[in-house]
Amino acid sequence: MTSAKRKLQPSDALLLVNIGQLVTLRTDSAKAGPRCGADLQELGIIKEGAVLCLNGKIVSVGSAKDAMRDAWLRKNRRKVAEIDCASKVVLPGFVDSHTHPVFVAPRLVDFEKRIEGASYEEIAAAGGGIRSSLEAVRETSKGALAARIVTVLQEMTAHGTTTVEAKSGYGLTVESELKSLEAIRDAASGWPGTVVATLLGAHVVPREFQGCSQKYVEIVCKEMIPRAAKRKLAQFVDVFCDKGAFTPNETEQIFEAAVKHGLGVRAHMGQLSETALSPFLRFHPASFDHMDHVSEDDISQLARRDTMATLVPGANYFLGLKEYPNARRLIDGGVPVALATDYNPGTSPTISMAMAMSLACTHMKMSPGEAVAAATINGAWALRVANRKGSIEPGKDADLAVFEVKDYREIPYWFGANHCAATVLNGVMVARA
Ligand SMILES: [Zn+2]
Repeated sequence: MTSAKRKLQPSDALLLVNIGQLVTLRTDSAKAGPRCGADLQELGIIKEGAVLCLNGKIVSVGSAKDAMRDAWLRKNRRKVAEIDCASKVVLPGFVDSHTHPVFVAPRLVDFEKRIEGASYEEIAAAGGGIRSSLEAVRETSKGALAARIVTVLQEMTAHGTTTVEAKSGYGLTVESELKSLEAIRDAASGWPGTVVATLLGAHVVPREFQGCSQKYVEIVCKEMIPRAAKRKLAQFVDVFCDKGAFTPNETEQIFEAAVKHGLGVRAHMGQLSETALSPFLRFHPASFDHMDHVSEDDISQLARRDTMATLVPGANYFLGLKEYPNARRLIDGGVPVALATDYNPGTSPTISMAMAMSLACTHMKMSPGEAVAAATINGAWALRVANRKGSIEPGKDADLAVFEVKDYREIPYWFGANHCAATVLNGVMVARA
């Protein structure tokens, strides 16, 4: 076993042994940075593996045989908590790098209208869509919002997710956006996993500012961003840049304000229409998300960079679209690709990373191996936490998912079922009831 430091108190240790397939995501590739091209397939699988965790960190990873020969383990085995993972798969906990968990109610009217044939834009024009979630969030207390988010985080845990990016964006007033971010912070403090918060004040132009979006952009730039940054309520600022939402020029203004206040940037891009990406690259965005529409030119610009293309096929599925993002074109063009759920009440009400992976395989022609890497290590890159998340290596956080399957390919294969048996979040084990 390869080991990091050895100041082990056995009672704080957790050992996963006899792991049928240990999917480490370690790579021999010398290239640092997100997994691109052929490297996206490198899963670093160890058969009959073992992982030892201590104080929330992974301390050693290797074969079960080596672990049993380890002198420290032999001496302390009885005092160490142990999970027998025979005939199971262990992989890094999923990193869901794009979710919108701060809302109050499902959007069932939109759901039915869409079934009857209404488009995304028609639903928005009829008072549905993002705007229809605003009132409830504005009226709901921070505590009630936090309680809802905790429930969602627990559900995610049961499905193998250990790191979650959580956006505000259903308040769209200074007070309700800050309240949403506080609710995310409060929910995160009671969850053993890791939450990365994003201010999405620029989700859509609220009704009060229709026809004068510039005024709203100024509120985002001059009030929301400085206040969220000062109180350290968000690590990132996101913008929905598309027709019916914010223009490229407005997006640049918002990015400028975010960077000025020390926050990272990311954007919803290319969901409904194509936007040229090069004007945004100077802000070093962490990710462009959706990417259904993207030009060849932009694909070659994004190749070999660490700006992630985050694909969210759950939205395409739930909207009943025939087209999905062209993952093959992106991957084969050298663009790093991540997968996320886009959990939200309007277009992707799922917390299941396994479902996102299944859709990636069946509708976007990603291999199961590529889907695993996109849902773990590249998700970690998308949130700029790849130094501690996304792979099973000594020194990284003890974030693991144990699946009751013999082969990792079964995770996207058995779509609609949850085979996650246990999740380890920063060293805390949560077994599924
Ligand atoms: Zn989204």
